[in-house]
Amino acid sequence: MSKKSILLSGATGLLLSISAQAHDAAENMDDLTRAIAVDYEERLEDLYTHFHANPELSFVENKTAARMAEELRALGYDVTEGVGGTGVVAVLKNGDGPTVMMRADMDGLPVKENTGLAHASKAVQKDRNGNEFPVMHACGHDVHITSMVGSAKAMQDIKHEWSGTLVLIVQPAEEIIAGAKAMIEDGLFTRFPKPDYVIGFHVWSGLTPGKIIIEPGTVMSSSDSVYITIKGVGAHGASPHQGLDPIMIGSSIVMNLQTIITRNVAPLKPGIITVGTFHAGTKNNIIPHEAKLGLTVRSDDPETREKLLEGIKRVTNNTAKALGVPEDLMPVIEHAPNRTPPTINDPEVTAIVRGVFEEEMGDHLMRRPRDGMGAEDFAYLMAPETGVKGVYFSVGGSISEDPSQAPSHHSPEFNVSPKPSISVGTEAMVRGAVALFNQD
Ligand SMILES: [Zn+2]
Ligand SMILES: [Zn+2]
Repeated sequence: MSKKSILLSGATGLLLSISAQAHDAAENMDDLTRAIAVDYEERLEDLYTHFHANPELSFVENKTAARMAEELRALGYDVTEGVGGTGVVAVLKNGDGPTVMMRADMDGLPVKENTGLAHASKAVQKDRNGNEFPVMHACGHDVHITSMVGSAKAMQDIKHEWSGTLVLIVQPAEEIIAGAKAMIEDGLFTRFPKPDYVIGFHVWSGLTPGKIIIEPGTVMSSSDSVYITIKGVGAHGASPHQGLDPIMIGSSIVMNLQTIITRNVAPLKPGIITVGTFHAGTKNNIIPHEAKLGLTVRSDDPETREKLLEGIKRVTNNTAKALGVPEDLMPVIEHAPNRTPPTINDPEVTAIVRGVFEEEMGDHLMRRPRDGMGAEDFAYLMAPETGVKGVYFSVGGSISEDPSQAPSHHSPEFNVSPKPSISVGTEAMVRGAVALFNQD
């Protein structure tokens, strides 16, 4: 039972409830904030609590997807399930005009929740490889999908305010940077109306509740995982000249890789090459036959990304050559498939959406420079080769007085304030979409 129906129980309550129901739906754009607030109290809060308590891992979001499909179908959308694995696509055709896509990601993380909340997750689930993990919505994707249900209702209620085709996508596996690509490969842009524009948002625990940050240009970095296997020749540690030491070669590669950032990339262009794993050897007096490095590579633009990935090959191969590695033992460099380009907001689309936020939600807008190189596979949906222009923005949901002290995303203590983030996220998505539909 929702809070509202508890408040309104009893005979007078019944009458009030009926009259309130008649005005629940948004009648026009001016009525949107109020209508979303009512929807939150009556429906979205319970839905959020349900999703938060029942998170699922990447590509096995079966119950979440089924529930989303059910909610969107009930709102009159034409729903297709199983797109790119567990993805859901919901279409609402509403006359002539552009096609606008809204995206929400739905996966949780292999984290054991430690928030102490009444609706904290106790879920344990097998991932797609059969390994069991505790699961938690430790990144706020429960906020995104709940807000999508709110947006779906509002867009239906104010149908007379816009014209075109609305496509909602419930995306799997953002956390392993795979779901957007999987949906595209399964015909997202060919089996369904192809969007002219795509919009989406992420809730942030480190941002004041209800605040919105929307900026043109790069908003999330590219992310690539690279694995390097260095082959050597095993020998006794006391006879290094009889072997070929992969630890020494690997160490030189680690050091030389950093020269790519400092010597090849322009000083004002951000870039990261982090060697996060270095595995080799079994015993102090044995030269092993192999060493393995694991790298994460980040950049903010496609040119720098290419420079870093090319540079890694060049430095690795030439360092090996310089240290006497023969042709048949050259290092093996693997570029893992879970990768994403940078998320670059289209300046025109950003100006349109930001413009309507300024007019209608001005109090919520704030500016803050980026302070990290996180990545997001939303980038695939508006990569240049898709021809789709888009904008991705941030909505604050901090639970702390001082947002900079809030528990970070992906931590067991992660928590966001659902009411402002869902209500503001919903309103922003709806106003943004309507502005894109109604351009002259
Ligand atoms: Zn995340
Ligand atoms: Zn996330």
